[in-house]
Amino acid sequence: MTQRHFSLFRINSIFVDSAKRMTNQELEKFKKALEEEKKDLEREVKHLKDVPDFGSDVDSGEEEADESAAYGDQLALMETFKLRLDDIESALDKIAKGKYGICEKCGKEISVRVLEADPESKLCQADKQKEKIKGFFKKIF
Ligand SMILES: [Zn+2]
Repeated sequence: MTQRHFSLFRINSIFVDSAKRMTNQELEKFKKALEEEKKDLEREVKHLKDVPDFGSDVDSGEEEADESAAYGDQLALMETFKLRLDDIESALDKIAKGKYGICEKCGKEISVRVLEADPESKLCQADKQKEKIKGFFKKIF
């Protein structure tokens, strides 16, 4: 190998390394994790829907108020679960279309590290950070 070939080889391997693509194995792993989480969430949502039996044995106004507060919490929780489910479903949809792991903001690949922490992530690390900062300022002002 000449010096020239050697340096080309080096550049190439560095490039491959920094833009490490998701392997099929990793993709399968994320798909499984998403499907598991989806099942769990669906179970939770179903459970929340089944349970409410508020107002059936109310005997004091105070108790009624407590129960309606609990019901409000339950609705908020259900809303959170549903949003999460939407994200998971859209991630699974992307896997099916071969578009999983692409940032919705900048179109770059989301690093495997980010996906490992949050398989339904729609954004890359940099854009996630930006969103967080935006959300932070929205809260302040
Ligand atoms: Zn991005």
